[in-house]
Amino acid sequence: MTRDLGRLTARTFDVLVVGGGVYGLTIAYDCAQRGLTVALVDRADFGSGASFNHLRTLHGGLRYLQSLDIGRARESVCERRTFARIAPDAVRVQPFVLPLRRSLTRGVNAMRAGFALDRLVAFDRNQGVAANLQVPGGAVLSRTETVRRFPNLDAPGLTGAAMWHDYVSTESDRLTLSFGQAAIACGAVLFNYVGATAPLKEGGRVSGARASDGPTGRPLEIAARVTVNAAGAGINEWLGASGRAAIPLVRAMNLVTRREAGYVAVGGRSRSGRNLFQVPWKNRELFGTWEAGRLSDSTDAGLESDVSAFLSEINQAFPALGLKLSDVTLVHRGLVPAALGPRPGRVELARHERVIDRNDNLITVAGTKYTTARAVAQRVTDSVFRKLGRPAVPCRTDVTPLPFRRAVELVNAVRDEMVVTLADAVLRRTPLGAVGCPTDDELTRAAGVVGAELGWSPEKTAQEIADVRRFYALTG
Ligand SMILES: Cc1cc2nc3c(=O)[nH]c(=O)nc-3n(C[C@H](O)[C@H](O)[C@H](O)COP(=O)(O)OP(=O)(O)OC[C@H]3O[C@@H](n4cnc5c(N)ncnc54)[C@H](O)[C@@H]3O)c2cc1C
Repeated sequence: MTRDLGRLTARTFDVLVVGGGVYGLTIAYDCAQRGLTVALVDRADFGSGASFNHLRTLHGGLRYLQSLDIGRARESVCERRTFARIAPDAVRVQPFVLPLRRSLTRGVNAMRAGFALDRLVAFDRNQGVAANLQVPGGAVLSRTETVRRFPNLDAPGLTGAAMWHDYVSTESDRLTLSFGQAAIACGAVLFNYVGATAPLKEGGRVSGARASDGPTGRPLEIAARVTVNAAGAGINEWLGASGRAAIPLVRAMNLVTRREAGYVAVGGRSRSGRNLFQVPWKNRELFGTWEAGRLSDSTDAGLESDVSAFLSEINQAFPALGLKLSDVTLVHRGLVPAALGPRPGRVELARHERVIDRNDNLITVAGTKYTTARAVAQRVTDSVFRKLGRPAVPCRTDVTPLPFRRAVELVNAVRDEMVVTLADAVLRRTPLGAVGCPTDDELTRAAGVVGAELGWSPEKTAQEIADVRRFYALTG
């Protein structure tokens, strides 16, 4: 991965993808693997938006069965399995347990029926999957069994527990990056820190983008036959520029804590009826996912009061925990497409992605799940072929192993993986800052290595260290 901006302007690409989150990267990869010429730009780092902030869970879609959304559940099962096939070193099997109380829709009988249906929908969940990644079927535990295995769950009104398994991505940021590396290996041209500023237009149709290189401020024009808007939180800037109504967004959050993780992910219900999960990741407990309940266009405005509301809901859901602000080491936060929830006036994460595809050579993709990004990319790539008027080449991203590599030495990350800032290096290329701010010594050492490679002055190095600290500052 090297930085020669001329590669973005030297030709007209078949496809320009705006946004290098998991959706943009999987689209770029699929298009390039099927033989199209592809450019992708991200105004920040690859995978630094919602894709950095997800709960690391690759869901098999159990929750969709509650509303009998079989198609969605089936897609989730297949995509969870795809991760195990194409990136077996990047995922592990994670047991989940959800305590149950007397309830017609969420009690023991409802969960038994749900698991029976899941056995049908997910009958082939382990086909072609390595032995260590086989996912056992879900089961309902009796009250006695629940208390024997999970004494902390003992509480008045407990009737049993639902237990199932999903995957958790162990190095999620390197997994996201590996889609970009796969795209590059297929000939795509990818740049981080290049922001698309406005669509280029030709006869009322979008013909690429005006863009600006972050490090140098150099303006660029990137010409493309089809443009895909996969800009996550920035999606509406593009929609606005092309005269379309905005997609409503809501802030979603997880809290990464210094609490040591157990082996099982535990669910709990807050007084507002929200199901929250405590998920073990890198030996820490992650809590999520919480949505702010109102529309938002910023990941940071009002964050402190949201964190405090989230903490109090966690303590309702897990009363023995006594979680405090001082336990929080990192707040994952991202803007995700919103839909009206069951409670009046409260919005929540939309279940279905939105793909807006009109007759102007622009396709807009608002993704709702990391798990299903590859499948959505497959459909978007089919649409790109239709727009280009070419016969679609079959998709192979579901069977081709990803070039996933665990964390590399910092020097290699800077040389080979387009590190531009210290945050790129410590947050996404290596696990140094994945669960909280690195120590002063670690930051100084990392800044020394990255700065030596990138030719930073002492002032620039100090600025980069300050930027990393600021990233964690809201949580003290
Ligand atoms: C708190 C939280 C928990 C979640 N938990 C899970 C989970 O456990 N499992 C799951 O499957 N999903 C989960 N999700 C959902 C999942 O993270 C998202 O659906 C997915 O990451 C969205 O990816 P994306 O590529 O659409 O957006 P993003 O990852 O946000 O990527 C968009 C990119 O576009 C770039 N961009 C914006 N504007 C421009 C521009 N003008 N020019 C160039 N680039 C631009 C941004 O810098 C960004 O990198 C969670 C989400 C959140 C927020």
